[in-house]
Amino acid sequence: MKKAIYPGSFDPLTLGHIDMIQRSAQIVDELVVGVLNNSAKNSLFSIEERVSMIKEMTDSMPNVTVASFDGLLVDYMKEIDATIIVRGLRAVTDFEYELQIAQTNHVENPDVETIFLTTNLKYSYLSSTIVKEFASYGGDISKFVPEQMIDRIYQKYNISK
Ligand code: ADP
Repeated sequence: MKKAIYPGSFDPLTLGHIDMIQRSAQIVDELVVGVLNNSAKNSLFSIEERVSMIKEMTDSMPNVTVASFDGLLVDYMKEIDATIIVRGLRAVTDFEYELQIAQTNHVENPDVETIFLTTNLKYSYLSSTIVKEFASYGGDISKFVPEQMIDRIYQKYNISK
């Protein structure tokens, strides 16, 4: 049984994240989307909002579950009995940080392996930060996030469309 975790902030979930979830769910038996509860980061959506939105968007995927976690990822993985971390690589800028984190996690727990999926070319430019930046100025975010989330994101900036 290969159980993996796809960890991230998902603030908010983008079409790039959904593409990653769909693709990695085909590789492993069970995929947990792990939403990091990082109180140090000023987030747009609360942890509960993020978990419930991702649940809504992954409802039709039978081997995908969503949970929040805090603290060290490797500790949480022990708790849920997962051994694989899935991360996405968009550009070389992602690489250095991701390599360092992956190696550190492997040292912390040698049973843990990280696998990287290269971004879908369609979404290689896309990040949650870019979505927030565009939305805050009332920009069109319909090509970046699932349709059901567009209004909820604008509402955070008191923008009605
Ligand atoms: P973090 O705050 O941990 O970087 P994010 O929510 O920004 O979390 O991203 C979670 C994971 O999804 C990371 O591995 C990131 O590289 C990947 N990711 C983000 N956007 C995309 C995208 N457009 N295509 C592929 N992977 C992506």
